[in-house]
Amino acid sequence: MIKIQNYINGEYCDPISGQWLDNVDPSCGQVYAQIPNSDAQDVTNAYKAAKAAQAGWAATSIDTRSAILLKLAALIEKNIDRLATAESRDNGKPIWLAKAVDIPRAATNFRFFGNAITQFASEAHENVGNNSINFTLREPLGVVGCISPWNLPLYLFSWKVAPAIAAGNTVVAKPSEVTPMTAYLLGELCTEAGLPKGVLNIVHGLGRQTGQEIVAHKGIKAISFTGGTATGAHIAKVAAPMFKKLSLELGGKNPNLIFADCDFDLMLKVTLKSSFANQGQICLCGSRIFVEAAIYDKFKSAFVEAVKKLSVGNPAEEGHNLGAVVSEVHMNKVLEYIEVAKQEGNLLCGGKRLIIEGSEGGFYIAPTVIETTTTQCRINQEEVFGPLVTITKFETETEAIQMANDVPYGLSSTVWTSNLDRTMRVSKQLEAGIVWVNTWLNRDLRTPFGGTKASGVGREGGLEALRFFTEPKNICIQYKN
Ligand code: NAD
Repeated sequence: MIKIQNYINGEYCDPISGQWLDNVDPSCGQVYAQIPNSDAQDVTNAYKAAKAAQAGWAATSIDTRSAILLKLAALIEKNIDRLATAESRDNGKPIWLAKAVDIPRAATNFRFFGNAITQFASEAHENVGNNSINFTLREPLGVVGCISPWNLPLYLFSWKVAPAIAAGNTVVAKPSEVTPMTAYLLGELCTEAGLPKGVLNIVHGLGRQTGQEIVAHKGIKAISFTGGTATGAHIAKVAAPMFKKLSLELGGKNPNLIFADCDFDLMLKVTLKSSFANQGQICLCGSRIFVEAAIYDKFKSAFVEAVKKLSVGNPAEEGHNLGAVVSEVHMNKVLEYIEVAKQEGNLLCGGKRLIIEGSEGGFYIAPTVIETTTTQCRINQEEVFGPLVTITKFETETEAIQMANDVPYGLSSTVWTSNLDRTMRVSKQLEAGIVWVNTWLNRDLRTPFGGTKASGVGREGGLEALRFFTEPKNICIQYKN
């Protein structure tokens, strides 16, 4: 049985209480590792290590910080096979996907912020008539907390940790208890990269215990959180009265607007991905597909035919499009939504758990398409976060925009059209932090990333992240002529 340990002050250690949690391999449903059930004592130790390292790390030259982050990026790339296999076993995603997306992106996150920090400039404002000059320092916040979800484990963990440490903070971080493995493995790579002790401390455990302790800790100055909307609301309630800086990246129910004038073949290919990549467990997946009446029937039959051909199987095997969903609890949640969807709409394909030969205990769900006629139903209002999409016909552009915006969420949207004027009109009216036109999950890490409405507060990415993890201090100097 593999024992995952906390990584505190540059050392691996057991939880002080001696309490452990089971970690399940979703491809077969078997427990294969144990993780620390960390409590307040472990979080306090992680905080103390981070606090002790903070002044030294903040005073470390930008060149040195950058070099360590770049080295860490290179080490992640060197270990890609091992990390991708670990990510797949922990999460249920196919190994090829972890190798093509998750692990390369984790390396890119460290490389991107290792480079970005060398370009992060202070601002100066000269007031000539008044003989004064202002300059604005961007100082690290101190010790910050980073809490990440299970769907893109190392990818989203590193997306927070990299800008936090690049900007001179030290970190207490918690990956999801459902997918702790790659964050655990990252510890030894941090040591190998020469990251000083205490700069990154990784504690494992339950959200309501370990996560809660991080959020409520008086010394932790900011919380960068990615996860569900209800958890985000709870975290805001705990952290806001302590005046912590908060970045909340939350749930989504993203619309995919398909107009008759689009490039049909490209749209179909990408829409398959935006519906079912990572078993539909990407916050950016387009789970509500709206199609213009003129091509609705053509789309419906081509899409359903393509979905039926998707292969679902053991994530360690070659050749499957989808692996297992992340856990039994999550599988049961998705299956319950499928039952709701069958009541509210017309099942076109999928709609059930799959038992895979040789992996009978695994958590597999057939990619599911449901036809709906209204947005005012649970399946078109609530986040499912699994391999289930709805398709709905629209007649006019105005109706399409209205249906797209008719949800509590506002993370991302995808628009398929070849009309430039429509691109501009529709993009401007969509209530979302990110709009993709004729593409999906096309990411430039310099751009602001995040959502509106119940999808979150604040933005990650590029300078936005470096601004979040720093406190501006303006210094005004009056001079004599
Ligand atoms: P979750 O909210 O259950 O958990 C996320 C993290 O928060 C985990 O590490 C968990 O242990 C921790 N946590 C839970 N309760 C906590 C508490 N009381 N205090 C502190 N930490 C706590 O989310 P999940 O099920 O792991 O992830 C799926 C959700 O994440 C979906 O809603 C998805 O849309 C969202 N998500 C959003 C984005 C984005 O960028 N907006 C990206 C990926 C996933």
